[in-house]
Amino acid sequence: MKEAIQFTALGEISHSGKTTQSAGEDRFKVLKDSIRDYEEIKDTIKTGIEDEEKILWQKKLIMKKLNATNTEWNDYKWQLRNRFTQVEDLAEIIQLTPEEREAIAVVGKTYRYAISPYYMSLIDPDNPDCPIRRQAVPCSAELDDRGELDPMDEGGWTPEELITRRYPDRLIIKVTNLCGMFCRFCQRRRLIGEHDTHAPKNRLIKAINYVKENKEIRDVLITGGDAFMLDDQTIDWLLSELRKIDHVEIIRFGTRTPVTLPQRITRDLVKILKKYHPIYVNTHFNSPREITRDSKKACEMLADAGIPLGNQMVLLNGVNNDKYVVRKLNQNLLRIRVKPYYIFHPKTVKGTSHFWVRIEEGLEIMESLRGRTSGMAIPTYIVNGPKGLGKTPLLPNYLSYIGKDKAVLRNWQGKTFEIENIV
Ligand SMILES: *Cc1c(COP(=O)(O)O)cnc(C)c1O
Ligand code: SF4
Repeated sequence: MKEAIQFTALGEISHSGKTTQSAGEDRFKVLKDSIRDYEEIKDTIKTGIEDEEKILWQKKLIMKKLNATNTEWNDYKWQLRNRFTQVEDLAEIIQLTPEEREAIAVVGKTYRYAISPYYMSLIDPDNPDCPIRRQAVPCSAELDDRGELDPMDEGGWTPEELITRRYPDRLIIKVTNLCGMFCRFCQRRRLIGEHDTHAPKNRLIKAINYVKENKEIRDVLITGGDAFMLDDQTIDWLLSELRKIDHVEIIRFGTRTPVTLPQRITRDLVKILKKYHPIYVNTHFNSPREITRDSKKACEMLADAGIPLGNQMVLLNGVNNDKYVVRKLNQNLLRIRVKPYYIFHPKTVKGTSHFWVRIEEGLEIMESLRGRTSGMAIPTYIVNGPKGLGKTPLLPNYLSYIGKDKAVLRNWQGKTFEIENIV
């Protein structure tokens, strides 16, 4: 494209640069109208806090079935011990057709499932398409053959058993294969074995030594499974060892516990974490329904301990591939002091094909956010390159021409404008 494009973005401004009163009013009406669709629909997409009554009702039902006291319910170890792993137990809490029962029994043999009583309580019993249920309860679609077990080839980027290193200055250490709930879309399904295992201490020491010996590693990401499935003592020890290494600048945790097991965020845990700042925590909310009073409290405890919180959402068909759901989620995450960090395009992991979406859907969501919500609520949309090629950002196209002395762009409303490109 060579020809100059007219400067139209500020079309409503008169040549003197002043606006008339009616032009001003028009302008604000246009702004209001640009989010009218969201304003009309937002109350039908309920956060867990907004649907609390129903969730508390389910909680009561589950507590009764498990004969639980409030103290037990609030104890994460009790939550872990009492995870739902049998189809008969599930059937007492949510409606299952005979076909669904059969599918759960069959799928469960290939891909284990385990749902914390807390996360079970978020399932809306009146909605067969509930986004919580879709993330937690196995279904026959998982037997679809498409996809690969390890499309990211994590196995091929492992200099030391627990480490994945794809970038020059940072790496991840996978400390456990335990999770509060085994997400049906999980990219690390292949590692979620039949039994819950933490990495043995001698392996952890080897991983720490690798970090020690490679002085360019300034950022260590502790993940799993779920990093906060380690017990307090091990987390304390691991952090103290990493903090002995001068070149480790920041330490990050990847954990879904604020979402699936908020009871894990205890006063003791945050007391340990805050000894080792700068510590960052990235969590993983996928649905507004996951924002409950309990998850809010967990995030606030971490934030109060000075830990910046980020959210890594996975874009999932039937859960959050909807521009309004994502806007509601991200705006409500900011309210509980979590900054949306990434939206991950789903990976082609075997057994998860029912969650796949097209790239166009992700781009449309990104397009719908810019301008219409706080920039703080807009994460980066990431496609993971296959075989370890790494995180690759995608953005709708805002740049339509770039030349020697000018560039042509468009704004969030689709208005085209030209800027000088000179120094
Ligand atoms: C995602 C990831 C990281 C962290 O990437 P950031 O973009 O820095 O958040 C580091 N190492 C590996 C192997 C990863 O998969
Ligand atoms: S918490 Fe993370 S690692 Fe665990 S099952 Fe869910 S997505 Fe996978």
